[in-house]
Order: sequence, then C-alpha cells, then structure tokens
Amino acid sequence: MTDAPIPLLSVRDLDVMYLGLTDDQNVKACSGITLDVHRGEILGIAGESASGKSTLLTAITRLQSPPAVTPKGEVILYDEKHPNGIDLVQAGEREMRALRWSDISIVMQSAMACLNPVTRLIAQFADTLRAHQPRISRAQIRTRTAELLQMVGIAPTAMDKYAHELSGGMRQRALIALALACEPDLIVMDEPTTAVDVVMQRQILTHILRLQEELGFAVIFVTHDLSLLLEMADRVAIMYAGRIVELAPARTIAENPQHPYTQGLRNSFPSLHEPRQVRHGIPGSPPDLRALPTGCPFRARCREAVEQCGTTRPELVDLGVSRAACHVRHEEFVADTALASTGAAR
Ligand code: ATP
Ligand code: MG
Repeated sequence: MTDAPIPLLSVRDLDVMYLGLTDDQNVKACSGITLDVHRGEILGIAGESASGKSTLLTAITRLQSPPAVTPKGEVILYDEKHPNGIDLVQAGEREMRALRWSDISIVMQSAMACLNPVTRLIAQFADTLRAHQPRISRAQIRTRTAELLQMVGIAPTAMDKYAHELSGGMRQRALIALALACEPDLIVMDEPTTAVDVVMQRQILTHILRLQEELGFAVIFVTHDLSLLLEMADRVAIMYAGRIVELAPARTIAENPQHPYTQGLRNSFPSLHEPRQVRHGIPGSPPDLRALPTGCPFRARCREAVEQCGTTRPELVDLGVSRAACHVRHEEFVADTALASTGAAR
C-alpha cells in the first residue's frame, strides 16, 4: 500500500440522472464518475456542451434540484470537522448548510443570478459572514468586506452599491470575493467568466490564481476554453457523454493527450505558444444520453475504433501519467510495458 495523502474531496463511482416521465426518457448525465481533488490544487473540467460538467458540479455541491437524482456513488469531503470524511450525497440539509461557504463555495456562470440586484453588496456579505460567525459586529463586517473586495481588485466603496450598479466584470469579481468570505477549502467555479469580455476574463483569472497561491484553497473549474484551462489547472478531467474519458496533469493533456477525443479537442483549440495553424473540430456529434450505444460512447466519431470498442465500454484505467478510458490506448500501454519489462529482464 502506498501512503497517498488524504484528498480533500473524493468522488466515487457517482451517477447522476435527470428523471423523465418514463424510464426511457431518463437522461444519465453523469456516469461512474471517480476522481479526487487534492488540497490546494486546481482541477479543470472540460468537454463539449451537454457532456455533464455542470451536472457533476451541482451534484458535488448538492445544488441539484429535481428532476436530478443521484442514484449511486459517494462524494466524500475530508475537512477539519470530518477527518474521516462526510458523504455529501447522504448529508442532511443542515449539515450541508454548515459546509456551504465555509468548506465549499460556488461561483456560478451568472453573477446576476447569484447576487441580489436590489440589495447593497454589504448586506450580501453580511448574510454570508453572519451565517458562520453569528457574533460578528457591523464594524467587523465592513472591515472584512473591504478586505475581500480589495482582494479581487474592487474599491471598498463599492460595498455600499447595489449589484445592478456594477459592471458585469465587477459583479463577477464581487461574487468571487463572496465565495472567499469564509475561507473555504474548495471553490467550485462553473464557467465563471463567460459573461465578461476576454480582457476581463484574464484579469479575473489572474486574481483567482494569485489568491489561490496566497490562501491555498482548491478549485474545481469548468470552462469551454481548453487553452485557458490548460494554462490554469494542475490536472484536467475531460468529460464525454457523462463520463470522464481522460484525467491527467494539464501538461500531459497539452502535450501528450491519450484519448482520441482529448486529442480531437486539443487540436480544435489554439495554444498560446504554438504557431498559427488551421484548427479542425471533431466531426459528428455526441450520442443521445437517453440511449447510449453499447461499447465506447465515442466510437462513432473515433478514427481508431476497433471491434472491442463496439462491444465493451472502456473503463478509466491507469496509463502511466494519464488515466484514460480507451481500449486502443490501454492495449498499447500494456504492450509497451511488457516490452519494457522484457527489455529490462534481458
Ligand atoms: P454546457 O457546456 O453546455 O454547460 P454541460 O457539460 O454543463 O454543458 P450539463 O448541463 O451538465 O452539461 O448537461 C448534461 C446533460 O443533462 C445534457 O444532456 C442536458 O440536456 C441534461 N440536462 C441538464 N439539465 C437538465 C434538466 N434540468 N432536466 C433534464 N435534463 C437535463
Ligand atoms: Mg454547463
């Protein structure tokens, strides 16, 4: 047994389903998701639209609402109060309330939907701070709010403004400041910058990275922008049709992606450090999640598919530096390893 450090969050074989009116209308939006998030790491999640990224985040943070259900799996959080872990799938609403903001906080895509437009910012910070520190004084709330706003580059005077008076970028940053208010161990961000322009995106992300280095929280980060993700993240999970098809250090995804889908995704994004070239999308479209084909869900779009890909669904397996769910890559890996060991034995 190796003494691997205890992760901060451990997702084990998690399924999430949107229940339809009849069984054949059920959408299995996440299937058998297994991944760890370590303390202080930035884990990126990428994949085409409808691959299940937001569904996974809402299941992890228990912000899902009907018709979503979690029929199988665990999301274990290891924090100071629960050194042996607490399963967030099973936790009661009260337990979840105690964990939100102080252990896990969330920045969703639409800042306007999360900030109340007709409430002054200070009141929203006060609510969050008081929820976990009921005795905090008004003066302390103002000091802490000023500090938090400054952290994300907003002048403290903005605390007396209404959310509707702020620009899109300021609102998004205010939301990040709010997410930091109770010094959580984990911040979950679902496309936190799509509502703002590219320059603002960079600014916001630079702030997040700086704060992350300073405060050491872990981040799960979802975006469509793979180039950005590869720059920011320590590790990246690639999702396809509700499954993780590859999980590897960002550098490996950038330089040596294993799964044919990751390779296609990687090739359809420009890199900052590469000369310009024509980009190709991945031909075809993802399968219907209500009726997944047997075998590999990517098979119909894959140029490397072999017979086994049509019959057996590939599991996410260890391929050295990466984990990937691909029969072809797995066979190559096994063959290479066997070759290396016979070479070494000689
Ligand atoms: P995007 O990149 O567009 O945000 P995503 O990867 O976040 O996509 P999800 O929003 O998690 O994908 O959706 C995964 C699947 O679940 C999709 O097929 C979607 O249609 C389905 N889905 C999402 N929300 C619901 C819902 N409330 N009811 C039924 N199906 C849903
Ligand atoms: Mg989404």
